[in-house]
Amino acid sequence: MFKKFWIAGALATLGSMVWMLSAQSPAQKVITDSLKAMGVSDVKTLTLYGEGGDGFVGQQRNPTGDYWRWYNDSYVVRSYDFDAKGFRTKRTHWEGANPPGGGAGTTTPAPIQQQDQITMANNFNAQVEMAMTPVGFLKMAAANNASMTSKTEKGKKYTVLSYPIDGGDGKQVYKTTVNGYIDSANMVQKVEVMISDNFLGDVSWNAVFTDWKDWGNGVKFPSKIVQRQWDPRIFELSVTNLKVNAPVDLAPPATKGGAKGAPAGAGAAKGAGPGAAKGGAAPAPLPVSEDLGNGAWLYINAYTSVIVEMKDHILLIEGSQNDAYIEGLLAEAKRLVPNKPVRYVINTHFHFDHTGGLRALVAEGTTIVTHERNKGLFERVIAQPHKLVPDKLEKMSPHPKLKVEYVGEKHTFTDGSQTVETYAIRGSTHSEGMMIVYLPKQKILWNTDEFNVNNVAPTAPVDAPNGYQVNLLSEVERLGLQIERHIPAHLPAGNRKVGAQELYFMAGRDK
Ligand SMILES: [Zn+2]
Repeated sequence: MFKKFWIAGALATLGSMVWMLSAQSPAQKVITDSLKAMGVSDVKTLTLYGEGGDGFVGQQRNPTGDYWRWYNDSYVVRSYDFDAKGFRTKRTHWEGANPPGGGAGTTTPAPIQQQDQITMANNFNAQVEMAMTPVGFLKMAAANNASMTSKTEKGKKYTVLSYPIDGGDGKQVYKTTVNGYIDSANMVQKVEVMISDNFLGDVSWNAVFTDWKDWGNGVKFPSKIVQRQWDPRIFELSVTNLKVNAPVDLAPPATKGGAKGAPAGAGAAKGAGPGAAKGGAAPAPLPVSEDLGNGAWLYINAYTSVIVEMKDHILLIEGSQNDAYIEGLLAEAKRLVPNKPVRYVINTHFHFDHTGGLRALVAEGTTIVTHERNKGLFERVIAQPHKLVPDKLEKMSPHPKLKVEYVGEKHTFTDGSQTVETYAIRGSTHSEGMMIVYLPKQKILWNTDEFNVNNVAPTAPVDAPNGYQVNLLSEVERLGLQIERHIPAHLPAGNRKVGAQELYFMAGRDK
């Protein structure tokens, strides 16, 4: 056996020696020429200085705006070590708007943070981030034996180098490809990879490199890097200086004072689910649903929804997360209310953690009820392919027709005995077109992300009220809603009951 391996090894060595003596493969030649044209043939590390911004996918305030929240400046923004396959991000991180817009959970800007993060390229997102500079892409393309094609885009011809990569978060893996577009001057102008998102489907995550500059020592590099996922920007960097082959320290920074913060790049902010209680013994598992009385039930999972029985159909409040969540929700709805179709799902706002299950409800023939501010968004998104990770709707042929009902200030669903009301709330900085849902019979107010209650109830008005709750309370008073219980989409630990008083306390008021 030993001998056989030895011979095989010798042959492999001989094979690679022959390859080394022969000409480079066409793709390798493109890589060599491109590195040379950029003056970075011997680059091992790249350090970028500059300023820009980043954000969370699907958590913006405006449904058609950028995934924007944070600004980064006056710092070493990224230093890459291509051999060690990692990068270090050091930056001053601050809120882009006051009050913060989008999925911030507060109307008070977060304090300015000095962030220092090490990212090793041991997962999909980090590997793509490594490839999203011209040099990083060429290094990754060389290491992954890239193949070569050509493509014309907007009248310009590009050589396209491609290599396969496993996409996803490690739990749900799919095959995709990293593509780099190299122009006739041997400059990498764009890096693109198709990714899968529960709500958006198959979308492009790309980085475009513009405003090329000669940085001295023959190094040519773009001074603008813009990353997008789907259409909106997720990351932008205006490069003010760069260094090649400066040492990059990838040792983890001391935990003391090392602000964590969100890594730039993909990743939607997730709200705390019912199991989010910290400390103490693990809470007992909650039942699948709670009877809210008069034909309404709270469906309890990592996220929550309300199941409402109407005379000849079922109405749902909120279709969050993904297919698996909706599968559980539908099973419980059909168990509680057999033989009635699920006709409506009320969507409070477009944030992707609360829209990720809507496709599975479209597959069920359910009509999405949402605020008119979202007009066009669902039509565009639901029409997108979902081929990387085919979901229930993708697998259906033909696809059921999308049904969306847009509502404004107020909408009432009633059959004479059961009533559900939606209200658009004014002044939300969390999301434009935000709606709350009121069940007048049960005197229950449903909110998503506007009043995420603490695990322990307050016993007196808080000193520093969160602006979300101040605004929600003023809206409740403007609308004259009589409330006995609040149900937040993100439940407190143990699904403790949240009474009317709690909103007053959290808004800094006694009743
Ligand atoms: Zn939200």
